[in-house]
Amino acid sequence: MPDQDVNNLERRCPRLGSDISFRYCLLSGEDDGPCFKILDCWWEYFDVADYLRQNMPAAAFAELIRTAEQPKNKIGSIIDIARRAQEKTS
Ligand code: SF4
Repeated sequence: MPDQDVNNLERRCPRLGSDISFRYCLLSGEDDGPCFKILDCWWEYFDVADYLRQNMPAAAFAELIRTAEQPKNKIGSIIDIARRAQEKTS
């Protein structure tokens, strides 16, 4: 799938409860990187793992895989994503 088509994809975010674009998911994680749930949220829409593997530095992709495998506290996760959203709007 071409990058432009991927960036225009939308889905309901299980953490925010609203529709968001794949582009947001790419930038809503630590240090403006991908959200730690990006693999879990998008695998049904397209081959997100392959897309990220091709578009991220190998070390960053490996870190994303490692982070995605760690369980996260739900409240901590909501606070985290809300904080990042607030940082992006201020
Ligand atoms: S990847 Fe993160 S920001 Fe994107 S839909 Fe999933 S939980 Fe929400």
